[in-house]
This record gives sequence, C-alpha cells and structure tokens, in this order.
Amino acid sequence: MLINAHGLSKKYPMGESEFYALKGVDFAVEQGEIVTILGPSGSGKSTLLNVIGGIERPDGGQLFVDGPEISAYTDAQLTIYRRDKIGFVFQFYNLIQSLTVQENIEAATNIAKSPLPIDEVMRAVGMYDKRDKFPSELSGGEQQRVSIARAVAKNPDLLLCDEPTGALDFETSKEILKLLESINKTYNTTILIITHNPALQAMSDRIIRVRSGEIVEDVPNPNKLPAE
Ligand code: ADP
Ligand code: ADP
Repeated sequence: MLINAHGLSKKYPMGESEFYALKGVDFAVEQGEIVTILGPSGSGKSTLLNVIGGIERPDGGQLFVDGPEISAYTDAQLTIYRRDKIGFVFQFYNLIQSLTVQENIEAATNIAKSPLPIDEVMRAVGMYDKRDKFPSELSGGEQQRVSIARAVAKNPDLLLCDEPTGALDFETSKEILKLLESINKTYNTTILIITHNPALQAMSDRIIRVRSGEIVEDVPNPNKLPAE
C-alpha cells in the first residue's frame, strides 16, 4: 500500500470550542491508483488532501505513506516529504506570473530530488511549443497543464489535485482529466482528485465519498471507462 490512514482526525478552533473537519477516517490507497474524492462543500475533502500532502497535521490517528509514519514527522521532515514525494495541483494554477512556462517548471525541478526531464514533461502535457510563453498569455486550460507539468516533473509518488477543473469549462475539464489519466499510465503516479462534479469521475479507479468529516462510501468506480 502506498497510503494507509487509520483514524485520522483534524480539528479547527471554532469560537470557544472546536470543530472536527475530519472525524477519524480510515482508508488505503495502492500505488498507481486514481482515486476521486467526492463530497459537498465543507465536508473535509481539502483537509483530507492537505493532511495526506503534509500541508496540515492530523490531530489524531496515523498516516503512513510509502512506509514511514508521516503523522509522526517533525516539521523539517514534513518539508522534505512535501518536496520529494508530493505534487500539488490546485484550482487556480498558482503559477509565477513573471516566469515562462519552462521557468515555472524549472522552479520546481531545481529543488527536486529526482526530477524528470523537463522537455519530456512539457511534451507530455502538450505545452512544449508554448514553453517560452508567460502565464498571462495562456488559457485557463493551458495554465492548468503547466501546473500539472510542474507537479509531475518533480517525479512525485503522489499527485494531489484539489478541484483541478473547478475554474474550467466542461470540455476543458475533460481534457485535463484525460491528461491526468495519461500521466498515471506513463509514470504510474498515484493520483487523488477532489471534485464536486460527479460527471468528472469516469476515469478514476475508485470513489471515496466524504460527508461531514467522515468517509461514507469507498467503492470501485462503477462507471469506469476504458482508457482511449
Ligand atoms: P474548497 O474550495 O475546497 O471547498 P474552501 O474554500 O472551503 O475549500 O477553503 C479553502 C482553504 O481555506 C482551505 O485550504 C482551508 O484550509 C481554508 N479555510 C476554509 N475554511 C476556513 C475557515 N473557516 N477558517 C480558516 N480557513 C479556512
Ligand atoms: P471541502 O474541501 O470539502 O470543501 P474543507 O476541508 O475545506 O472542506 O473544510 C472542511 C471544514 O473545515 C469546513 O467547515 C471549513 O470551513 C473548515 N476549515 C477548513 N480549514 C479551516 C481552517 N484553517 N480553520 C478553520 N476551519 C477550517
């Protein structure tokens, strides 16, 4: 197993008391899986992804990724874990506006432990011909391709995508998801994708449904489409 989570919880202060955004979740993910995390807004999806990615610390439970117990890491260990093992893709691309496509990707690979060749990754996401463009010269879908390239070029074990198509139209969203599927096939990267659009789950192997900080369903994707 790549990820093993036991009783993971996360609380936030709420006025005088506290509020549990994750209430003891258990799950496991195998290397190479694509898992879609569905659930209404505020159900704890981002919190779950951020805990797995070492952006947030759990308040209870244990998280193992590729062997070690991440939930026992020091801050310094977590920083290295995020840098070497995790690629993040967010809804709003987060590209550096003053850098070109290629420079944005290099900014990530320069600090990575075992990066992939940049040219290869730019080709894989279909942005090689636009490598000298700046983010402001690109469409939303193209910017998301670059942000995926930036995450993938680090050669992470885990690609964590938080509403990667949330700002894109439906057709562009489908292209982005096809791209994620091809990344999964090419590099055997394990991918977790948050979406609240159930129409965008066709390519995932598994669906985890979250509600009020709990996993209420964890099933193989009944609508999995064969890769084209
Ligand atoms: P999503 O778009 O995934 O539903 P949100 O818009 O709820 O995410 O939250 C975006 C970010 O803001 C999250 O990463 C979360 O850590 C932070 N956040 C959400 N709710 C609060 C809050 N009540 N107080 C402080 N930070 C919050
Ligand atoms: P989702 O991604 O499913 O929309 P989140 O994980 O962003 O949900 O948030 C789950 C709950 O935790 C929400 O009620 C949100 O407001 C709250 N929350 C998230 N981050 C914070 C934070 N940093 N501080 C306080 N509350 C937060």
